[in-house]
Amino acid sequence: MMATIVESKRKKPTLLLDNFRYTQDKILNTTIYWKCENRSCPGRAIQYDSNPSRMTKLHNHEGDEVRCKVEELKMNLKRHIEDSPQPVKKISREHII
Ligand SMILES: [Zn+2]
Repeated sequence: MMATIVESKRKKPTLLLDNFRYTQDKILNTTIYWKCENRSCPGRAIQYDSNPSRMTKLHNHEGDEVRCKVEELKMNLKRHIEDSPQPVKKISREHII
């Protein structure tokens, strides 16, 4: 699975990587540090410049493939809608989210 960055409900970037979800921890220069969304989990990922992000610390739980797939799909759908020039997009967006 490719790494995907989606936007959470609070407009915070969320990284989907290998069925795990990460929230942005900190950004130092061009390196982005991601931490597992599960606060009791030590799972971490890192992204240098525009290189693909990779996991640096293992998780203490299983990834959620279905949830990640759904969010990826939603993100693609949202992008598709935002790209379309019709005013209908606002209505459809609300139905999707
Ligand atoms: Zn984790």
